[in-house]
Amino acid sequence: MISILRTDMPEFLDVTKRQLQSKDYSEECVLHELLRMQHSKCCYCERKLTDLGKTERWVEHIKPKSEFKNIDGNIEWNQANAWSNLLYSCATCNRKKGETPLIDSKTGEFKLVEPSHPDIEPENHITFFVDGVLIGHKPIPGSIIGKRTVDTLFIGRLELYRAFKKIKAQIDAIFAEIAGAVAVDDIGEFETLVNKVARLTCSKVAHAGFIRVYLKLRIAAFNATDLPQLNEKFGVNFESINVTLASGHGCLT
Ligand SMILES: [Zn+2]
Repeated sequence: MISILRTDMPEFLDVTKRQLQSKDYSEECVLHELLRMQHSKCCYCERKLTDLGKTERWVEHIKPKSEFKNIDGNIEWNQANAWSNLLYSCATCNRKKGETPLIDSKTGEFKLVEPSHPDIEPENHITFFVDGVLIGHKPIPGSIIGKRTVDTLFIGRLELYRAFKKIKAQIDAIFAEIAGAVAVDDIGEFETLVNKVARLTCSKVAHAGFIRVYLKLRIAAFNATDLPQLNEKFGVNFESINVTLASGHGCLT
């Protein structure tokens, strides 16, 4: 899970021009802008929504629609379907989340990690473990919403485990190539491979959150064992990637 920078509201949802209706959140132009804002990824699990069928994607209401009922019991669609209240998720995350709101509208308290909220940095609440063949989400110690989000959304997700395993194998393969380039003093190949690694950290890549955490582990291990040799040979290291990883957002391309 990574942070989502909210884009400008689609004109279709401009309440100064018309009253919003119940199904406005599913209008094609709204879905298109949600996909653009989220780099076509599920707001929670970072699977590519564009790899899923249209029935496998759901618009999420950050504060549930039912909480915008007026005194007559009708829903205030101008508020419920406001652009700031919408996110886009895969059907699995949507089902697992169920009725749990991201934010309690009465108290304003966060119930789960809300990736588009400016006060929330998801990477401060949720991380990943890589323990032998076991890979998965885990909360950052002390984060109540991180723990609740992991327990609610990510436990037992075989498709995520398989995706992480595949990514781990790809990264391990690149690091094996890097070791090979260092061994034969091939600085050109080394730089090409470092750039390849850097591009993986981009927010647009599926499962960028997992990739960043796993790369940090690999780079730390690499720096601990191979860095002296690398500096001696090439006078370079992974500093630029570490800076990108620390910033948590950047696309180097
Ligand atoms: Zn998802």
